[in-house]
Order: sequence, then C-alpha cells, then structure tokens
Amino acid sequence: MNERLLKAVDARVDDLVALTAELIRFPTINPPGEAYRPCAEYIGARLKKHGFETEFIRAEGTPGDTDRYPRVNVVARFDGRSPGACVHFNSHIDVVEAGDGWSVDPFAGLVKDGKVYGRGACDMKGGLASSIIAAEAFMEIFPDFPGAIEISGTVDEESGGFGGVAHLAKLGYFSKPRVDHVIIPEPLNKDRICLGHRGVWWAEIETKGEIAHGSMPFLGDNAVRHMGAVLQAFEDELFPALDRKMTRMPVVPEGARRSTMNINSIHGGQTEDFRPGLPSPNVPDSCRLTIDRRFLLEEDLATVKSEVTDILERLKRERKKFDYEIRDLMEVLPLMTERDAPVVKAVAQGIMAIFDREPDYVISPGTYDQKHVARIGHIYDCIAYGPGILDLAHRPDEWVGIADMVESAKVMAIGLNVLLRGTATD
Ligand SMILES: [Zn+2]
Repeated sequence: MNERLLKAVDARVDDLVALTAELIRFPTINPPGEAYRPCAEYIGARLKKHGFETEFIRAEGTPGDTDRYPRVNVVARFDGRSPGACVHFNSHIDVVEAGDGWSVDPFAGLVKDGKVYGRGACDMKGGLASSIIAAEAFMEIFPDFPGAIEISGTVDEESGGFGGVAHLAKLGYFSKPRVDHVIIPEPLNKDRICLGHRGVWWAEIETKGEIAHGSMPFLGDNAVRHMGAVLQAFEDELFPALDRKMTRMPVVPEGARRSTMNINSIHGGQTEDFRPGLPSPNVPDSCRLTIDRRFLLEEDLATVKSEVTDILERLKRERKKFDYEIRDLMEVLPLMTERDAPVVKAVAQGIMAIFDREPDYVISPGTYDQKHVARIGHIYDCIAYGPGILDLAHRPDEWVGIADMVESAKVMAIGLNVLLRGTATD
C-alpha cells in the first residue's frame, strides 16, 4: 500500500473532525428541509478552495421545495490532468429530527472521547467528511492523476431522494460518460461493502361498504369487517408464505434475509377527533390499509402484487358485496451490484490493505439513493461504503468514531487509487 497516501490522510485528522462537527451544526432536518442551502454552500466553498468546480442545483417543483425550504444540492468536480474514469462520492446532507432522549445538544457537533456526537454524525455527515478528506489527500499525493473526482451533497434521502439524487440523475449527473463509479458513504461499518437493497412495494388497499344507521347494521355493509377478512387471510396465508421465501442476498440483519410485509396503518369509519363529544352511530363504508412489502431479487414485482390481489379477488367471490380498490404508492426494484464490479473490487482492496481481512458483503434491508443511480442514471457500478454503525442512525446520542472515519477515509483513498490510477500500492 502507498504509505504516503495513508500519511496524507493521517495528517488531516483534525481537519476531518472539524469538518464533521461543522456539518452537524447545520440542522438539516427533513422534513421540512431546514438549512439545506447554507449546508450545501458550506460544502461547495470548501471544495472550491481545493480546486473543485462547484454547482448548486435547486430541485424546483419536487416535493417540499419552497422558497422557505429550497431543495439545494451541491455537485463538485475536479478534473485530473488527463482523461480517465470518474469516481463520484454521493452523500445526503439531510438528517431526521433529533427526537427526545439526548444527553448532548444534537446540533452542537460535540467532540468527546474519540467520537463526534450529533444528529447526522453517522448518518451520514461523518461519511461525507471522510470522502472529502480521502479525495483531498489523494489529490495532494497524486496531482497528475487521470480522470475525475466528484463529490455531491444531496437532499431529501430520508424522504425518498426525489429532490436530491433522483432529480440530479434525471438531469444526467449520475450517468455515463460523466460518471463511471459511485460510492455512497452511508454508515454500513468501515469493513463492510453494501451491494444494494431489497425491493419495495407500498400500496393502499381500500375495502368498500355501505353506510347505514349503527343500530341496524344489517341494512348497510361494514367495510371494517371486510378488512378484517383481508387481515385474517394475510395472517393465515400471506405472512407464513412470505416467511418461507429466503434469499441469496446477504441482507443484514439476518431476519431481513427473507420477504417481509409491514402493515403501516389502518383506518376505517369516522375520524377519531370526535372527542370530547361522542361519535354518531354509523356503519363504515370505507376502510383503508397501507402495506409496506419488501421483496427479494428472486421475486418479481408482478408476482409480489398478485399474491395480494389474488387474496382480494378470492374474498370478492366468497363474501357477499365485498369490493376493494388497491393503489400503488411506491415501487423500487431490488438491487445487487456484482462482487466483481470495479468499484466493489477497488474498495475491497482498500479494506484488505487497512484491516488485513476480506470485507463483509451486505445488502441493506431498506433502500437508499442507490436506487436512483441505477434506475435513472443507469450506473450499476455503485455501492454504499462508509464509517459509522448503522444501528446508531436516527437514535438519540448518535455518534461517529474518529478512528473509524480515519480508517474509512484511507479505504476510500486506496479505492480512488485503484479506480483512477489502477494500483493499490504505488
Ligand atoms: Zn443515510
């Protein structure tokens, strides 16, 4: 391995810590999308000082974009001395709300006992800072490198990425020939490479009934009882069937190495805000249920949907007056980058050099911005790799370890060396 490159990262530890703390101090809470512009401008100014060309792209018209809460993304690019591949590091700058239970100020960027604390420390401002330090160290040691390095800070990942990576991908920022390899420094642990994620299907099922006086329910048709039959069929048939579907995808945690479905919400009949009065007696004529189905590479979306609609159709035959509607809310196909893809092999070389062991290859149970890079940008050479412990994300007293960030930055720097200069050692 190249000792000079690793020393250049070590020389930047104070800078890495200060940068992470500074990023945490922007309270980029989503929703509503607070402080996006100043945070993007801070990243842009930093990279501009290091020779990057920077662009700010506001995703006008995307969900949540207003003049009060503009969806501002930053994309920075540094072209090397000669043509070659482009490696893009993409991090989301938005964080979820702090919530209760903190023992420190979630937006102070407190540094203590080898850790940086704050909302977004691990998810994923620590990863963003690590990628910036890796790039700057690499550029100092190899000023003549071929190809290009890009770093982006994008918004709204926590709410689907539509004003962030999806928007930029539609504009061509995540496509060839501009970009060849993408690394997303999400907190998957410093010695693991995340190859992709399971698929998602969100849908709303509505059972229909007929309103009548509650004292004479036989005159109407109760939509909640119809939904009860749907839930019973899910319990008896669908959940056991999903539980039996195992995948070859190395999903972590292991419980997610199969098909799953969550019932997000159920609502039927009149609203609950009649309090402090009393409700009026009605037979509900509508009941709505939202489902969150996560599926596997071995499944296709049409079959995933028909498993649910087959049950609904059968109930329609069996139950007098049963009727339903089903509405798609979101669809994401499962993704798994191959282990012999260039970006996987390059980062694996970095992990082997720093930790003297093979990386663990994992799949995320939930999705992240890789879906847009693949489906809109058609870049399949994409992984998530970054410091931080995923279990700490979205929790009180979130932190990222300084030593973990340094080691991750070294892995990223070696990855850059492999992808741009074709060597891990010189
Ligand atoms: Zn994240």
